[in-house]
Amino acid sequence: MKKLAYILGALVLLYWIITLIAPSILDNQFNPMIEKGPYTVSEKAQTLFNDLDFVGDLHCDALLWKRNLLKRNDHGQVDIPRMLEGNMAMQAFTIVSKSPKGQNMQENTAETDNITSLVIAQGRGMDSWFSLYERAIDQCEALHGFAKKSDGKFVVVHDKAEFEAFLKARSANRQLAAGYLGVEGGHCLEGNLENVDKLWDAGVRMMGPTHFFDNELGGSAHGVSGAGLTDFGKQVVTRMNELGMIIDVAHSSEAIVDDVLAMTTKPILTSHTGVKGTLNSPRNLSDKHLKGIAATGGLIGVAFFPEAIGGTSPEVIVNTMKYVKNLVGYEYVALGSDYDGSVTTQFDCTGFNLLVEEMLKQGFTEEEIRGIMGENMKRFLLKNLP
Ligand SMILES: [Zn+2]
Repeated sequence: MKKLAYILGALVLLYWIITLIAPSILDNQFNPMIEKGPYTVSEKAQTLFNDLDFVGDLHCDALLWKRNLLKRNDHGQVDIPRMLEGNMAMQAFTIVSKSPKGQNMQENTAETDNITSLVIAQGRGMDSWFSLYERAIDQCEALHGFAKKSDGKFVVVHDKAEFEAFLKARSANRQLAAGYLGVEGGHCLEGNLENVDKLWDAGVRMMGPTHFFDNELGGSAHGVSGAGLTDFGKQVVTRMNELGMIIDVAHSSEAIVDDVLAMTTKPILTSHTGVKGTLNSPRNLSDKHLKGIAATGGLIGVAFFPEAIGGTSPEVIVNTMKYVKNLVGYEYVALGSDYDGSVTTQFDCTGFNLLVEEMLKQGFTEEEIRGIMGENMKRFLLKNLP
């Protein structure tokens, strides 16, 4: 009996040590950066960057890594001090609840999951170990927790009134930042339509039907079926429209994008994407779909990582933006970094000045730069938040 107690005690101690060490090791390993700041640009580019009223990004998975976002970290790509340092007004914080082993852009199934061992190693609450829904709720609570402990420097935005109040406060004080919650893949609904409302109550304002594998809502761009929305998927889209939850078609199969475009009553967006016109990948959008999203009054968030755009440099990112701008107009282009999404990026969220420099180099006008860096996102949210 005594021996057993010792063994159990040793195991608990070992687990506790793992939860202390593993999160930052994994975070560091999965979210590498090619260059660490400070990032220097020409005086002209820096002056324009400093003058930008609103810099915003449509996608980052920082909540997955159990990183303290109130602290300036030496790993990972986003935290609140770095947002403030980098003149960022807003970041969408998106929730990942399941990702397949051997995750790839071409073909994945739902049978395996890397996130289960990750949440256990991170020492997250046991209710989130085996429930995708609880994992999502856990990450919603984490972001609200950071806001609460930020001494008013960071707020989570849920509606237009809160967003307007934030914009007003920030016009007097640049050392303020905001975030809003999104979800990658409706599998965390666990097949229950009522969970759309529960996620809404937990603060979620954006959701993509699928992530890396086909789920109860329909086919993934990297799944097996290539299917469109299922009946359940259509019910979810309808409920999202009713609530005013923004639909994000990043990672959706082509058939889902068609279905969502056909049925949505609200503008939609893709929070982090590349385009087939510059890189022919299953994860990237065709010209037809880019035009379709723009026609809803939507947004196209351009990603920063190689699997989406073919590289990581500001030049490659801006090349992709230029393609979308020439196809549908700059008003529909936004930043969609995919920071902390297990991707390699060139720079962290203090390096957006590099994009301004590159846009100037590629002949973008000041109005276009202001729009893409955040004004388009601001306008979209003012129109589409409840
Ligand atoms: Zn993603």
